[in-house]
Amino acid sequence: MYTTSWARLDSRKLDELREKLDALPRFPMVQRPTPLHEVARLSERLDGPRIFVKREDLSGLALGGNKTRELDYFLGAAIADEADVFIAGGGVAQSNHAVQCSAAARKAGLRPVVVLRPFRADPTVGNHLLHLLIGTDVRITEPTQPGHSEHPRFLLAQDMDKVADEYRSQGCRPWVLHSSFHPLGVVGFVDGALELTDQIRDAGIDPTHIYVTSSGATQAGLVLGNKFLGTDVRVVGVHSGETPPGHGSMVTNLANDAASLLDIPTRLDEGDVVSAAFQGEGYGYMSAAGLEAMRLLAETEGIFVDPVYTSKGLAGLISHIREGRIGKGETVIFVHTGGVGVMSAYGKEIAATDAALSG
Ligand SMILES: *Cc1c(COP(=O)(O)O)cnc(C)c1O
Repeated sequence: MYTTSWARLDSRKLDELREKLDALPRFPMVQRPTPLHEVARLSERLDGPRIFVKREDLSGLALGGNKTRELDYFLGAAIADEADVFIAGGGVAQSNHAVQCSAAARKAGLRPVVVLRPFRADPTVGNHLLHLLIGTDVRITEPTQPGHSEHPRFLLAQDMDKVADEYRSQGCRPWVLHSSFHPLGVVGFVDGALELTDQIRDAGIDPTHIYVTSSGATQAGLVLGNKFLGTDVRVVGVHSGETPPGHGSMVTNLANDAASLLDIPTRLDEGDVVSAAFQGEGYGYMSAAGLEAMRLLAETEGIFVDPVYTSKGLAGLISHIREGRIGKGETVIFVHTGGVGVMSAYGKEIAATDAALSG
């Protein structure tokens, strides 16, 4: 049982954190605050705790998502460096991150470029289609060194650097974002933690848990922000893909780099990084539990989660509620990180499952 009383938090800590965040360059794109609201019919259906959803899917850019809040800081840094081209990447063609990056670059007046891998590279559906409207320079490449033991993220970064050289040779000033697994991405969700804390206090609730689909910056930022503010809320990061070895220490180090950047004394240790695995067949694939969660939220509340990220986080929460890990008298926050743009790319599979369920 957790004992957080959000109303009794030290307001000076909130002000101090706001000052630290304001000291970093930011190009504000998030429509603040993103809504926090209760989903009572879902709670009732689960016979579970009070559930509130923090709607990062309604961030106000492209089709929304958690990357917008991070991009406020990434574009802030790119503009401070006087960049005119913004280069990002994605391990799959339907990457949410890549679309958010492209949209953010346009909004900030930079030229968007994304380097993607060919997994599910159908340009007529999902996020891939959106790049067409945004007018992104999309490069779909295979890893240059197949079979090489380097981490895929490293190989993708190399490809992004090559495209950056190409733009430099044309006299442009590209700013390259190798990955949102970046201290400024964490800063984005320290900002999110602060905004959420204000909303929780205004709503007069005392949540004991926050569930979020993340294995990186989003979780790290929420944990760091809450630790600084002195809440003892338990942040659970639900993974959408396999958990790599050493994950806990990687996230801890990333959060602590962000803490240095923000100039706050708080540091995480590995025990602060709480994870749950609901990845099913892995990254980029739907899971049976996720599909059930998707249907449950749509049926009870008319809200959509996406088939490969947010649905897994929600499935994790639902599973923990059913196991009785969160008591009926408690309150829990689910952070909806977006991703709904991919829906049509998985349409055939979703419809096939639906037919199987109803027939
Ligand atoms: C990127 C993404 C996440 C996870 O973000 P992390 O970088 O792992 O924190 C979760 N949900 C959606 C929809 C995403 O696009």
